[in-house]
Amino acid sequence: MAHLLLYNADMKMQHTLKDIIEFSGIGLHTGQPVNVRITPSGPDTGIRFYRKDLPGSPCIKAVSANVISTSYATTIGVKGASVSTIEHLMAAFYGMGVDNANVEIDGPEVPIMDGSAVDFIGMIESSGLMALPALRQYLVIKKPIRVSEDDKYIFLLPPDDMEFTIDYSIDFAHPFLNKQSFARLFSQDVFRKELGSARTFGFLKDVETLRANGLARGGSLENAIVISDTEILNEGGLRYPDEFVRHKVLDMMGDIALVGAPVIGQLIAYRSGHSLNHKLAQKVLDKPGRWELTDSLADKDVMSSMPALLEKLATI
Ligand SMILES: [Zn+2]
Repeated sequence: MAHLLLYNADMKMQHTLKDIIEFSGIGLHTGQPVNVRITPSGPDTGIRFYRKDLPGSPCIKAVSANVISTSYATTIGVKGASVSTIEHLMAAFYGMGVDNANVEIDGPEVPIMDGSAVDFIGMIESSGLMALPALRQYLVIKKPIRVSEDDKYIFLLPPDDMEFTIDYSIDFAHPFLNKQSFARLFSQDVFRKELGSARTFGFLKDVETLRANGLARGGSLENAIVISDTEILNEGGLRYPDEFVRHKVLDMMGDIALVGAPVIGQLIAYRSGHSLNHKLAQKVLDKPGRWELTDSLADKDVMSSMPALLEKLATI
């Protein structure tokens, strides 16, 4: 059975990195060069960013409560110290099963690398993971949670089985993007092979406006798919025909990671983005009656809960 493969005994334990990871790059929005050093950390510490360039190296924990902006990227901050565009790195931690790590950074934005999470995934794989002497806590959805904004929405429903499934759709008024959907049972393998290398994207017509607003200063064809009205400007074209929706799922992974525990449930999203993703993470945390934490994904009699679940779905 799939879930036995996904959640083997090793996945019961919390993990950190085995080795230190170091890399440099520029921020997508600031255009600033940044150096990052990621070090292993202990059980139940989560992902913590440290601004090494600021006095006292302030710590900003990567949790939903510390999100201060969701405009074009997810930014966390505490007392004036912030780190932006954390979502692709957070997605890599979440997707690869890194529960705890310290991210030391000497600037205000995580390097964009090639616009995807592929470099982060490669570095996590090179480091390898180390199991910690503490059980991982999974957040299992028990009652539906819904957020919406205009016609955009996300549902987080109780799982059919003790797994995390994603069904994500985008619908842009553009010939290359219009309708794309991505529906999978989430696993580390799906994350690595099908989501990790999907790049961020933007429209050529928006570039000037973004730059006038101090955004996308580091953006280029090296780190984003750029789309004009008639073509994709990147020489190599797309990595997947539906790279756009895959990147949106990658962003979602990075944003849902901020609830602080791997989620078990069915996530259904339509035209979502960082702002709505953040609303979802906040609502999850604001509604502790709708989920429970468990360190065991086995021995759940899920079939017995199906009639009750169907009844609930009919009412939302
Ligand atoms: Zn992104």
